[in-house]
Amino acid sequence: MSGMPVAEPKPVPEGAESCDGCNGSGVYYGAGRIENGKFIGFSGPCYRCRGKGHQTSKDVKRNRYYDQHVRRLPSL
Ligand SMILES: [Zn+2]
Repeated sequence: MSGMPVAEPKPVPEGAESCDGCNGSGVYYGAGRIENGKFIGFSGPCYRCRGKGHQTSKDVKRNRYYDQHVRRLPSL
């Protein structure tokens, strides 16, 4: 598997919040690792900021809902 450079964080516009789902680049990295500065594994647009690298109040609300109702599945 070949690696890819880790995307740089983008500036956060005024009134927006930095994203807690990515490093601010809008790219989500999961199920992987960083080796020699390259990411190896799964990556895609960050679902928490929709690839923007920051969250608007709308995004924050959506994520809060998601965290409370979707991500935490009741234990079966
Ligand atoms: Zn993000």
